Amino acid sequence: MSKYQLLINGEMVDGDLTMDVLNPATEEKVADCPRASVKQLNSAVEAAKDAFPIWSETSVDERKGIILKIADVIEANATELAQLLTEEQGKPLEAATTEVYGMAAFCRYFTSLDLPVEVIEDSEARKVEIHHKPLGVIGAIVPWNFPLILMAFKLPPALITGNTMVIKPAPTTPLTTLRFAELIKDLLPAGVVNFITDANDLGEPLTAHPDVRKISFTGSTATGAKVMAGAAGLLKRITLELGGNDAGIVLDDVDPKEAAPKLFESAFQNSGQVCIAMKRLYVHENIYDEMCSELAAIADETVIGNGLEQGTKLGPLNNKMQFDKVKGLIEEAKKDGNVIAGGEVPDQPGYFIRPTIVKDIKEGSRLVDEEQFGPVLPVMSFSSEEEAVARANATSWGLGGSIWSSEPERAYALADQMDAGTVWINKHAELDPTIPFGGAKQSGLGSELGQDGLEEFTQRKIINMAKSA
Ligand code: NAD
Repeated sequence: MSKYQLLINGEMVDGDLTMDVLNPATEEKVADCPRASVKQLNSAVEAAKDAFPIWSETSVDERKGIILKIADVIEANATELAQLLTEEQGKPLEAATTEVYGMAAFCRYFTSLDLPVEVIEDSEARKVEIHHKPLGVIGAIVPWNFPLILMAFKLPPALITGNTMVIKPAPTTPLTTLRFAELIKDLLPAGVVNFITDANDLGEPLTAHPDVRKISFTGSTATGAKVMAGAAGLLKRITLELGGNDAGIVLDDVDPKEAAPKLFESAFQNSGQVCIAMKRLYVHENIYDEMCSELAAIADETVIGNGLEQGTKLGPLNNKMQFDKVKGLIEEAKKDGNVIAGGEVPDQPGYFIRPTIVKDIKEGSRLVDEEQFGPVLPVMSFSSEEEAVARANATSWGLGGSIWSSEPERAYALADQMDAGTVWINKHAELDPTIPFGGAKQSGLGSELGQDGLEEFTQRKIINMAKSA
């Protein structure tokens, strides 16, 4: 069994505590994992604070050069990282490999961006400039569904802009992150990036730590609210990428046979454990029955299994808590609607749930009103476009949404009415590092990716100079 350690102040160190990390496909232990104490969290923040003055003075080109080397290291070790990611997260190896290469690509993308000094006035009387200064120590908190790619939303832009970091993965998926830490340790000066792990107990002290200037958080809305409260006392900067209950709306001109595979993928990729997965589907009544049948047929033929086995399309849920939650939602949905595919939990070890399609269900059922974050999709019918949009918007979340039509312009006309951070047309859950990403309503605050995602790690500073004394 490989040995995993924390990275604090440039050194790989044992945790003061330990914890097990399980393979969700087998429920067997993948490895002993170090677990940091509060004392180690404080050491990590101190190291990042001490590293900040020198790191923030290095040139942007030097920092970008290091990020490019990190991208090279990720790719050179992609096979190992992907295998480990599958073992601890559960996703199929092919998807894990895509995530690893995606992380390298996100690193490279951010090195193509700049935040030059902007001169907003240069007149006889004065010269006024906008500068972007690093903030200091960034606390980065990452969930378990995409441990690497979501870290890549944060690490490259935070470092390129001159900040230092303490990164904390989720308790059920810390190993790939720690192996990554070990691989990049010698590329960076000591303390610039520190990696700690926890059992869901260090997010709060990290957020509250007086020397942490910003928290970049990805996770659930409930925890995001705690981060916001914890950051309030010292008016820290926060970026929150939170939960969602994305609706897809399928208009009456769509061919069910053609659209069903894309809709299925939108809802079920990563076994539904995607913040921007399609989590509710509204289909026009004229094509409702046919669409439900198509989706059920795809669900029935989908191969679920251990992500390391060839042919596996969907892996298990990542952890027991999520597994139990989704099972509970399905049991209730059996009373509130008709389960036309799946609904069962295979009699085998691992947190497996067959992809489940629920027909004839309505708002008021927990499966529709809550974020399931698992392989189960409620499909509802509507009769008018206004009704569909109103029902899609009737939620406190607002991460993403999509509209499907054989005439994209018809869908475009409705896009403006959807209350969401991103609206896709004839697709869903497309993520691209060049496009800013953020949630409306209770799905988040601020944005990541794109130029905005770089700027979010800086403080604007105005220099306003009179031309004469
Ligand atoms: P979670 O909120 O339970 O945990 C996320 C992270 O927060 C973990 O690292 C956890 O250890 C940490 N944490 C726990 N308590 C904390 C506290 N009091 N203060 C600070 N941090 C704390 O979420 P999860 O179950 O790991 O992830 C699933 C959720 O994340 C879903 O709601 C999903 O939609 C959301 N998510 C959102 C995005 C996005 O970009 N909007 C992306 C992926 C996942």
